[in-house]
Amino acid sequence: MFPRFSQRYAGLPEHMRAECAPTPVASPRLVAFNRPLAEELGFDLAAFDAKQAAEWFSGNAIPAGALPVATAYAGHQFGNFVPQLGDGRALLLGELTDCHGRLRDIQLKGSGRTPFSRGGDGRAPLGPVLREYLVSEAMHALGIPTTRALAAVTSGERVYRRVPEPGAVLTRVAASHLRVGTFQYFAARKDDEAVRLLADEAIARHYPALAEHNEGERYLALLDAVTERQAQLVAHWMGVGFIHGVMNTDNAAISGETIDYGPCAFMDSFHPATVFSSIDERGRYAWGNQPRLAQWNMARFAETLISLIDMDADRAIEKATKVVEAFSERFESRWLAVKRAKLGLETQEEGDAELAEDLLTAMQNARADFTLTFRRLADVLDSSAGEARLGELLESPHGLEAWLPRWRERLARESDDPKAIARRMRAINPAVIPRNHRVEQVLQAAAQRDDYAPFEALLAAVTRPFEEPEGDVDYTRPPRESEKVLRTFCGT
Ligand code: AMP
Ligand code: MG
Ligand code: MG
Repeated sequence: MFPRFSQRYAGLPEHMRAECAPTPVASPRLVAFNRPLAEELGFDLAAFDAKQAAEWFSGNAIPAGALPVATAYAGHQFGNFVPQLGDGRALLLGELTDCHGRLRDIQLKGSGRTPFSRGGDGRAPLGPVLREYLVSEAMHALGIPTTRALAAVTSGERVYRRVPEPGAVLTRVAASHLRVGTFQYFAARKDDEAVRLLADEAIARHYPALAEHNEGERYLALLDAVTERQAQLVAHWMGVGFIHGVMNTDNAAISGETIDYGPCAFMDSFHPATVFSSIDERGRYAWGNQPRLAQWNMARFAETLISLIDMDADRAIEKATKVVEAFSERFESRWLAVKRAKLGLETQEEGDAELAEDLLTAMQNARADFTLTFRRLADVLDSSAGEARLGELLESPHGLEAWLPRWRERLARESDDPKAIARRMRAINPAVIPRNHRVEQVLQAAAQRDDYAPFEALLAAVTRPFEEPEGDVDYTRPPRESEKVLRTFCGT
């Protein structure tokens, strides 16, 4: 059933990774399996056997051709440099080529201790595994670059965190696991050769067009390309109210995918200072700080490339600084494009940025639900009850009375009629996001009652985010006061 692996990363020099076998678990059971993704990856599902799959996706059996390695990386965590982190509880099995011809990393997360585990147990609790499964698949369905979830297996063992929890292993699929922190690990050791190998690997896997550049320009072009993808990514996140929660440099993927769904969350009512992570006490990674932090991470990436960018260090720094400084403008233009689309605007006018910002201010004052506001704005355009439905969302007075006529007047200069604009707004403004309170409910049902039906129902809803869901549970509604989840935990 398992497709054929390649071993690109395992083929890199020995000091860049550590070969390491998974630690078998007591009694693996497959609790989630992503069939569409498996098909994309070339799995032969006619031969699918849940028992065999549980063996593979727990690490109890190694599929033919896989060579598990833990990768080395460093990282700035909350601004402090840690020279060695590495895969402390994850193992890369190798890469598969998917049906689009793209190489995809297959990684087990929670598969036992590795040489990088430090004090950790190498394991993952079920809750965070299912959270990553749900949120990463939701992100993909929202059209935002992300690692994917292929499988979740319970281990039949307990892991001990704040309370004992069932253990689990997640199979993560990524364009690659190259991180800013991977480059930092070698740059901090002045291992220029390893940095060059990584840069060439990043270009080959994620930016193949850059291989055409001559050597003098290639690595500056890499910095530029990675910066562009980070700017796009954060603009996408902000457009769905996503707060990553741990934007450390080891969680910044060179591919431009969202990686590491630790204490992440989607916000309900809008406020730019919203933070959920229990370990983010100062709000470093708040919703509205994410662009600044992405730029900060890009500055750290730039530092690792200096020796490759130009033999003359001063010149290299000057060139790299320009690219990093350009991030702000880049982000602003990406973010404006997202906001225009959310408001149904296809044409571009001077005043659009202000129009969008004024809406956000009104939403903040009205404690408006971020997701529903944009859905209800679409209703305003094609339903007579639309404006009343929008008003129900907001604490009054909310300032939208003055804003709506300005928006309507702006829309009048679009070529489409209001019905068509409403349709296109509904195609990019989700009805369903994995709201924290729903996520917590389904994780508890799984962990405490071994009931996966709520998980499956929520997964089905969040992976069709632009459709109004049917059924008994209203996945679109914000939490009631008693349901609000104010803190999320890394669960490591
Ligand atoms: P994260 O906060 O998930 O980005 O992880 C930061 C670092 O801690 C990485 O090097 C992880 O591999 C490591 N780590 C997290 N949880 C564990 C664990 N349970 N056992 C060993 N290492 C861990
Ligand atoms: Mg991480
Ligand atoms: Mg993590």
